[in-house]
Amino acid sequence: MDKKIVLLGPPGSGKGTQTERLCAELKLTKISTGDLLREAVRNNTPLGVKAKGYMDAGRLVPNELVVDLVKEKIKCVEGGVILDGFPRSLEQAELLDRFAKVDLAVDIEVNEDNLVRRLTLRRTCRSCNAVYHLEFNPPKVESICDKCGGELFQRSDDTERTVRERLKVYKEQTLPLTKYYSKKGILRKVDGEGDIGTVYQRVLKAIKG
Ligand code: AMP
Repeated sequence: MDKKIVLLGPPGSGKGTQTERLCAELKLTKISTGDLLREAVRNNTPLGVKAKGYMDAGRLVPNELVVDLVKEKIKCVEGGVILDGFPRSLEQAELLDRFAKVDLAVDIEVNEDNLVRRLTLRRTCRSCNAVYHLEFNPPKVESICDKCGGELFQRSDDTERTVRERLKVYKEQTLPLTKYYSKKGILRKVDGEGDIGTVYQRVLKAIKG
């Protein structure tokens, strides 16, 4: 598959989890701005140092820190791409249109009450970024990643206070993107409630549609 697909949906809607699976099964390349930024923070790079404060506060980092990152990555990819977490505002969507043609935007919809629960019980692998949920998708061994044996941790922005801010930012800045892609005729909505496998089948149907 060589489509360029944007995964939309609020924080906690399962974008990261679905992206991992889609990439493995459809041989697509993942570009996750959240993962890239967290890596930069972990490595204490100049980008990471600048981005950390925004991320910990649950706010969007400035465009000049993320847009070139995506531009560089996308240039190097042959074949299909899934963009997870980018674009996150109308301005970013317009900038993206200047250097890549988006074929499809998939919006994963989840009820807001469930999102806080999903995010605060989420755990992420420090090494491979795999995502777990202590209740719905726990690791086989506590605090250890099933896939790579890495250590699981709670993202510093997955605490309740920051989660609420992230949801607010999502509603104000990212939600308008559904209209943007709908007007272009490339938006597909997917019900994100239910277990990971069920949602995956819906996402797959939307993509292959
Ligand atoms: P995520 O892992 O996608 O939930 O992203 C985690 C955090 O990284 C967000 O709350 C933002 O602070 C930052 N971030 C990720 N993607 C973007 C983006 N496209 N634009 C601005 N900030 C971003």
